[in-house]
Amino acid sequence: MTTPEQSKGAVIVTGASRGIGAAIAQKLAEDGYGVVVNYAADADGANSVVSAIRSHGGRAIAVRADVAAPDDVADLFDRTKQEIGPLAALVNNAGATGGQARIDEQDADHLTRLMQINVVGPMLCAKHAVQAMSTAHGGAGGSIVNIASIGAQAPPGISGFVPYEATKGAVVSFSRGLSNEVAPEGIRVNSVSPGVIDTEMAAATPGAREASATSPLGRVGRPSEIADAVSWLISPAASYVTGSDITVSGGL
Ligand code: NAP
Repeated sequence: MTTPEQSKGAVIVTGASRGIGAAIAQKLAEDGYGVVVNYAADADGANSVVSAIRSHGGRAIAVRADVAAPDDVADLFDRTKQEIGPLAALVNNAGATGGQARIDEQDADHLTRLMQINVVGPMLCAKHAVQAMSTAHGGAGGSIVNIASIGAQAPPGISGFVPYEATKGAVVSFSRGLSNEVAPEGIRVNSVSPGVIDTEMAAATPGAREASATSPLGRVGRPSEIADAVSWLISPAASYVTGSDITVSGGL
C-alpha cells in the first residue's frame, strides 16, 4: 500500500549531518518526504539526524558520499532509488568556507578543493538529479534547491573569505542558468542565500556573529529559518517559482 509519505518521493540533502542541512532534512521529513541524509565524515551526526526523523515517524537513511567525488555521488543516487524511491528533490547544502586567508596567502590545491566541494559537487549532484527527475529521461519532474550565501552578493564585512564568496556566486549563477535549461522538463531550480546562521561553520568564522548583530533584525539566524524557505521552494506552493534566489539574512 502506498502511504501519503511514500507518494511524496525521495529528497537528498547533502551535508545533513549537522547545522543547516540537518534542519532541512528534519523539516522535509516532517513534510512527508523520504530523506537521504548525506554526509562526508560525521557518521555519528548523520545517524543521529536519521534517528530523530524516525522517532517522529519519518523515513530516512544516512549515506556517506563526498559530493566532490563522482563515484560517491553516483552511489548516493543509486542508493536513494533503491532504498527510498523515485527522487522528488535535491538540496545541495554541503559546503565549506576553506578557512580565513587573504588571496595572496592562498594555496592552489586548497583553492581547487574548495571549488570541488562548493561548485563541482552541486553540479555533479544536479547532473544525477536531472537524470532521475527530468521528463526527458522518463522522470516525473521535481525541484532542486542550492544553498548559496549572502556573501555572494553583499559580503557582510567579514574579511578573508573571498574564494568562498566567489564559489557561492557560482552557485547562484548555476542555479539561474540550470533553471532555464530544465524548466521544460518539469524541474524547478532555485537558490537560498543565508545570512549568518547559528551553526558550527558560523562559530568557526571570525566576525560572523558580530556581522549578524549589525543586520536590521539584529540577531543570528536559526537553521530552521533556512529549512522553512527550502520547504516552501520545494512545495507546490512555489510551483511558479524558478530561477530565483531567496535571501534569508535578517536584512543583511
Ligand atoms: P556546517 O555546520 O559546517 O556543516 C557542513 C555540512 O556539510 C556537514 O554536514 C558536513 O558533513 C558537510 N560536508 C562538508 N563537506 C562535504 C563534502 N565534501 N561532501 C559531503 N558533505 C560535506 O555548515 P552550515 O553552516 O550548516 O552550512 C550549510 C550550508 O550553508 C553551506 O553550503 C554553507 O556554505 C551555507 N551557508 C552557511 C551560513 C552560516 O552562517 N552558517 C551562511 C551562508 C551560507 P561531514 O561533517 O560529515 O563531513
